[in-house]
Amino acid sequence: MTPVTDAHSPDRYPSQMDHTYSRRNFLQTSLIGSAAFAQLPYFSRAFGARKPALSLSKDGEVPSSVQKPAFPVADYHVHLSPTLSIDQALQLGKERGVQIGIVEHPGPGYPINTDADLKQYIDGLRKHPVRIGLQPVYPGWSKAFSKALLDELDYVLMDALTLPRPEGGWLAIWQIDTIVDDEEAFMTRYMQFIEQVLTTEPIDIFAWPTFLPVPIARQYSQLWTRQRTGRIIDLAKARKIAIEINEVAHVPDETFITQAKRAGLKFTFGTDSRNQNAAHFYYCYQMAQKCRLTKADMFVPTRK
Ligand SMILES: [Zn+2]
Repeated sequence: MTPVTDAHSPDRYPSQMDHTYSRRNFLQTSLIGSAAFAQLPYFSRAFGARKPALSLSKDGEVPSSVQKPAFPVADYHVHLSPTLSIDQALQLGKERGVQIGIVEHPGPGYPINTDADLKQYIDGLRKHPVRIGLQPVYPGWSKAFSKALLDELDYVLMDALTLPRPEGGWLAIWQIDTIVDDEEAFMTRYMQFIEQVLTTEPIDIFAWPTFLPVPIARQYSQLWTRQRTGRIIDLAKARKIAIEINEVAHVPDETFITQAKRAGLKFTFGTDSRNQNAAHFYYCYQMAQKCRLTKADMFVPTRK
């Protein structure tokens, strides 16, 4: 696997982990037009190459389009950026009939590092009709902030895509050049980190669930065994952590969502966008339709 950094000190964070550009942008600029990439079912939509082929439904009908669900919809994974102001995000939400939740990364290399930074972030957004969230990347992030201030956030969303390396540093498995030598060894390590995130981090939403790095993405149904998905669902349920259905990565799949719904878990939709893709859903609506999600299945963070 490609290391994100050669830094071995836990106090140093890799320059490549500078999230001034997003995962989506990284992938887009790296791979647009790549034939290998186009074969990955869950990336086909994200890069605008083509719409995913709609399969025949059980009764043989081809759905002409995916319907927006009847329940209120929100995109709780929107990042503000030079290409997306708060006003633009709100306008897109209005046009698309979607509520907006804003997230920002805390921690070294990111804009929010102190209580003062966090307070400024919350106060700046509070006057707008949005939910206010945080998307930590590194475990233990919450120690840098006071509990009272963290409680002012509407929600915290975290993924398990930045794996700690035993020798120090981090491995960002969303990066396109991630190499997986041994998929079973990778899955063991990945599951360990997922367990850590779901059992120790103060979070409300588990983002990018079941995402696999590009080289093994096509083995999704083989590597996500019932045992592994069942474990994730049990852990999320134990702490009432909601599951993000991720528009850019097309995860988790229908099987996982159905299994999680049956276990009583709740869901959110997220675009992980920093541009006009905010509030634009296709995969999420498709999954809502296929898995018969209702208002009762959706997690809605309380506005504080
Ligand atoms: Zn994000």
